[in-house]
Amino acid sequence: MIITDVTTIKLHYTMDVAMADAIHYMPSRPTLLVQVHTDDGIVGLGEAAAYGGFLESTESLITGELRRTLVGQDPFRVERLWSMMAARSHQRGRRGMLMQAISGVDIALWDIIGQATRTPLYRLLGGYRDHLPVYASAGFYAAGKDAAGLAEEVGGYAERGFGCVKIKVGRQPDALLNPLHDMNASDYATVSFEEDVERVLAARAALGPRVKLAIDANNAWTPSLALKFMRAVEDQDIYWLEEPVGTEDIEGSALVAHRVATPVAGYETESALPGFRELISRRAVDIVQPDVIWSGGITETRRIAALAHAYGLPVIPHNFSSAVAAIANMHFIASIPNGSWLELDQNPNPLRSELFEEPLTVRADGTIALPELPGLGVKLNQAAVDRYRIEQHGP
Ligand SMILES: [Mg+2]
Repeated sequence: MIITDVTTIKLHYTMDVAMADAIHYMPSRPTLLVQVHTDDGIVGLGEAAAYGGFLESTESLITGELRRTLVGQDPFRVERLWSMMAARSHQRGRRGMLMQAISGVDIALWDIIGQATRTPLYRLLGGYRDHLPVYASAGFYAAGKDAAGLAEEVGGYAERGFGCVKIKVGRQPDALLNPLHDMNASDYATVSFEEDVERVLAARAALGPRVKLAIDANNAWTPSLALKFMRAVEDQDIYWLEEPVGTEDIEGSALVAHRVATPVAGYETESALPGFRELISRRAVDIVQPDVIWSGGITETRRIAALAHAYGLPVIPHNFSSAVAAIANMHFIASIPNGSWLELDQNPNPLRSELFEEPLTVRADGTIALPELPGLGVKLNQAAVDRYRIEQHGP
């Protein structure tokens, strides 16, 4: 079998009400799917993260540079192809956008191998478990949504059976050195420090003792502000604190992790093994959060998980895009011994809820089962693809 072509599908959904985390304003959900075609008719499916820019930037890396390396090659040699893609483009930087592009291709290669061997991907990779607990990723900032509105929202997730809910914190414009000031719509749905603490208390009360509560600061804080916030919520039984400080502030994250009893989780904004090596070996995180559509695909994220395993750390991937990202992360998590929760975004997004012929369904007990079909085990819903497909995202 050889690879004959590499193509992309650009999808876009505009939200009715824009949402925001500590520093990012999100009025829409752009998504970049990758398809790797072979001479015997198998087409592998993947997704490349495209956060923070136009889909065309990542697309041009995939269909331009990476495609040239891949066409004519054997898709089963995925380790070799990963190294060729990374090595031949290494001057572009070994992290960030190049890793996002490689991720999309790598997932599609693994999907091909699974389809060709008639094996579900999670079992091909080791099959540690066949279902996952799911946490509701939600509690964003939005116009008109106060602490009471947040409590009502998260209470609904508890009623639906989720065992853990994550909410956003940190959208405080008066915080020193907050990167929010340089971001889009930086005055949208902001809060004071006191209002932010109030949001956590309201969410915790709404969830009750059964449901875990995690909080995510999306790189907004300095170490001292992170410590101050955690002191203000220290009796709220926070399950983890996510990305408290800037991605490059390894010492700062390690300081927070050392000083607070709550585990520090991160960093989705890091990518590739060398970056995660620093976070893990310098004890800047207690929970490791790569993402197979961002960190370097299944291949590189397995290396990151193995390193985390060596340090006795759990891996709870970042997952916040389409259904393709979710299913790829599901197979990865289910395959490794130190995996656990699946992050599942609960904001309205048909690219997550309508993209497959068989939608991903969380069971009443808050878990989700892996599919038993070969490869990723899913089929794109062509009507949904047609509805949300765009020709142009950038200017
Ligand atoms: Mg996060």
